[in-house]
Amino acid sequence: MIIDFSKYSSVKIGNKIEVAVLKEACKSDYYLIGLASNMLINNANNLAILDDKFAYIKDCKDYLEVGAKTKAYDLYKYAKKNNIANFEFLSSLPGQMGGLCKMNAGMKEFEIANYILELNIDGVWQGANFSYRCSDITGHIFAVKLKKENSFSLEKLELFKNMRANQPSGASFGSIFKNPQNYSAGYLIDKCNLKGFCIGGAKISEKHANFLINFNKASFDDAYSLIELCKEKVFKEFSIELIPEVVILK
Ligand SMILES: Cc1cc2nc3c(=O)[nH]c(=O)nc-3n(C[C@H](O)[C@H](O)[C@H](O)COP(=O)(O)OP(=O)(O)OC[C@H]3O[C@@H](n4cnc5c(N)ncnc54)[C@H](O)[C@@H]3O)c2cc1C
Repeated sequence: MIIDFSKYSSVKIGNKIEVAVLKEACKSDYYLIGLASNMLINNANNLAILDDKFAYIKDCKDYLEVGAKTKAYDLYKYAKKNNIANFEFLSSLPGQMGGLCKMNAGMKEFEIANYILELNIDGVWQGANFSYRCSDITGHIFAVKLKKENSFSLEKLELFKNMRANQPSGASFGSIFKNPQNYSAGYLIDKCNLKGFCIGGAKISEKHANFLINFNKASFDDAYSLIELCKEKVFKEFSIELIPEVVILK
């Protein structure tokens, strides 16, 4: 199938690219994407998405088995409806479960890795190692088994909603960079006076400096140049190397 990444990706940047659809859980050389909510894609080859059959939530009594194509928001809704704990933070996270596990997505100390029992990677159930916004998973995730605990918390839901208050609206891929140890990437970029700085149709948000906003039909080059500029300026000013959280496919 053809995906137009200027419509599909959350940052609304990219071209029309032929993408395969994986129908079976097995090893392959494709580069698998989810909802492209943490990606900046130019002219990549060999891309694939999962078939719709991998969008499911199965209650296995002691745990949940969730297909990797399931949207984070759908798992949040399921948890709320069935009074299950720990997935309140998914109400605020775009993406599918495969991407979430691969990136160890989360908010503050609430990370998906905390609730993972096992993953189906390339057709084999196994464990994985996780750190801040990172995993050692190299294969394709087809499903995940998650801890099932009581009870859903409306207080936590409110907490996550409030955490989003300083997040800018507009097309973005979430945070540009991971936070370096003891610093916030947004603070460092802000100190380089880059808030509001534009290249073409891409700008650093005035509201939060670790967000790149596509405000006017930005190209891949606009966004990429802006990311490189942030890295250069922060390194020059603070000798700190910013590591992108966004996955960039040139
Ligand atoms: C407005 C906004 C706010 C955000 N806020 C946060 C936040 O607070 N915290 C946070 O952690 N993230 C945040 N993100 C980033 C994003 O929500 C997460 O990284 C999410 O996990 C990405 O899921 P996805 O399906 O879109 O993955 P994609 O962006 O499509 O892919 C991301 C990576 O995962 C890999 N991948 C995708 N699916 C699979 C699979 N099935 N098997 C193996 N690898 C796979 C891809 O190859 C790629 O390397 C935000 C994004 C946006 C747009």
